[in-house]
Amino acid sequence: MRKKIVAGNWKMNGSRTDAEALLKGIANAEIPSDVEVIVFPPFVYLPLASELLKHSSVKWGGQNLHEGKNGAFTGEVSAPMLTDYGCKYVLVGHSERRSLFHEDLPTVARKFKAAQVGGLIPILCVGETLEERKSGNAENIIQQQLASVIEAVSISAFQNAVVAYEPVWAIGTGLTATPEQAQEMHAFIRKELVQHDAAIANKLSILYGGSVKADNAVGLFTMPDIDGGLVGGASLEVKGFLAICQAAVYDVSPQ
Ligand code: PEP
Repeated sequence: MRKKIVAGNWKMNGSRTDAEALLKGIANAEIPSDVEVIVFPPFVYLPLASELLKHSSVKWGGQNLHEGKNGAFTGEVSAPMLTDYGCKYVLVGHSERRSLFHEDLPTVARKFKAAQVGGLIPILCVGETLEERKSGNAENIIQQQLASVIEAVSISAFQNAVVAYEPVWAIGTGLTATPEQAQEMHAFIRKELVQHDAAIANKLSILYGGSVKADNAVGLFTMPDIDGGLVGGASLEVKGFLAICQAAVYDVSPQ
């Protein structure tokens, strides 16, 4: 059975007071035992996350990392710094990093590697823009995003990684891929990886991200190749985020 995961990417949102309220709300909630719930607060709130979540099953991680261990890289944070604060996961290649901060394919691959070398589990984000989808290039783009990482680290590195399919046109836009559209791309991603190693590909958790909300999560998460979600906006509110966590264990079998 693949691990079900729901991850909340807070991006650059909220104050310390907001972060504390959100973390306390999640820490005090009943989390389904078979879902790995992860939060990605801004770096400065990681000490708060490690303090407030230490007795909970909820994990936390960094939204980004630098590929080096240390050095003259003003403003950057390395994998060992993240593990110092108890991070287990890190996002790599989020579309906002790729587009706004110009992270190209080799950079994302190096960050993926640095995360693993530093003891973190990378969540590799892949996804196409609307233009790429409209021009029939979505699969090519995803294939390139996966291939550049596989070339750098080999398929065996995916034993200890997660992939998130996040169509860029659905991130923060309120437009969600339909469960069928998302399933089609998840199946494509798994098929690409199966060509390298079927056992690894079939065990890999592939999350969907792009305007996931409490009211569309069940439809997405019950698709056969969707193993949970990477949630942006809806992870900033305790009740909605917890409802999305519950959706990951929704039972589709006949009652
Ligand atoms: C994200 O930031 O990864 C994301 C999917 O955002 P949203 O849920 O707001 O679309």
